[in-house]
Amino acid sequence: MPVIATNTVEQRCSSLGEHRQLLVNIELNRSCAHTQVCGQTCYLNVVAPVGKMPLKPEQVLAAAREVIYDGEFVRHLVLPGKEVFETPDLLMQVIEEFHGAPVLRRPGDISIITASPAGLQRYASRLADTPLNAVNISMDTAESGLRSPRNNEPLLAAALRLKELGGTEAIGVNTVLTEENLAAAVQIGKRLQGAGIDQWTLGPLLRPMNGRMESALSVRQLREILDRIRQEFGNSDLNIVVDLDLPLLNGLVDAPEVLATGKMRWRYEYELPDAPNILLEAGNPAAGFFFRMDWAGQLMSKEDYRRIGWPASYGQYAPGAILHLIKKLREQRPEPALAV
Ligand code: SF4
Repeated sequence: MPVIATNTVEQRCSSLGEHRQLLVNIELNRSCAHTQVCGQTCYLNVVAPVGKMPLKPEQVLAAAREVIYDGEFVRHLVLPGKEVFETPDLLMQVIEEFHGAPVLRRPGDISIITASPAGLQRYASRLADTPLNAVNISMDTAESGLRSPRNNEPLLAAALRLKELGGTEAIGVNTVLTEENLAAAVQIGKRLQGAGIDQWTLGPLLRPMNGRMESALSVRQLREILDRIRQEFGNSDLNIVVDLDLPLLNGLVDAPEVLATGKMRWRYEYELPDAPNILLEAGNPAAGFFFRMDWAGQLMSKEDYRRIGWPASYGQYAPGAILHLIKKLREQRPEPALAV
């Protein structure tokens, strides 16, 4: 998933406490049926470690347990796949363990990212027993070069059906923006209006540049795109989140208070004053707010995750490593000014 991989659905006026400021991604596997189709446009294809063995499912489960039973400071636990339904037993085990864990010790919520309508349909009744807080799906345009837009409608229908059955509280839809797809992206937005989704996340396509994954869109291009999005959807019932990085957000927004507040939080946020249903955000790149474990067990910071190659600044998974990391990150983080 090229977008939202370091973000997720967060309800406006979330009831999650301010002591929870850590976003955690645990990659379940390295398999996705669309791998050949999406090719180098897939973020995960580009940053995938080379020549590494994947962790065994029981190791991934053990890693997830360390988050689930010591997740007091974790705001969101997100399970990205690569495609989570490629390893459904592992996926369901992690979700079921989350539900079995004491509420005060586990993360604030749990969500998945998927492009599999079949998986959502097949596991809907089990998910209704142990619901997700959010399902993130991707609906992309032909111009983005990702899997066929033909997948969009079945995926949306499966996610909506899952919500109807009680298998997820919320649905987030992600759409990648390129230099060429604004008109088609607007059509997706129109389709989503009134459809019953909770968040539409737009993010620039990321491309490899100088060893890092960088936005394919400049600040100027993003400003033009935002103007159009504001014209089309400003003050509508569509809750829109524009997923940026900090330099892009700084380029678009001149508001010192955003920087001051964002420093203490898992993400920097700026609501458009004349269209408050549109929120610009950038994940906090400082230590203490994010970590991701990839399928090979590499533990990465937000900045590492943008690098191509082998960063491993937080090390390699071994039993107890995640517990240790959560504690260390918690110590590094500044205290919020106001604890809610
Ligand atoms: S569907 Fe998503 S994870 Fe799978 S190859 Fe395409 S972009 Fe990558």
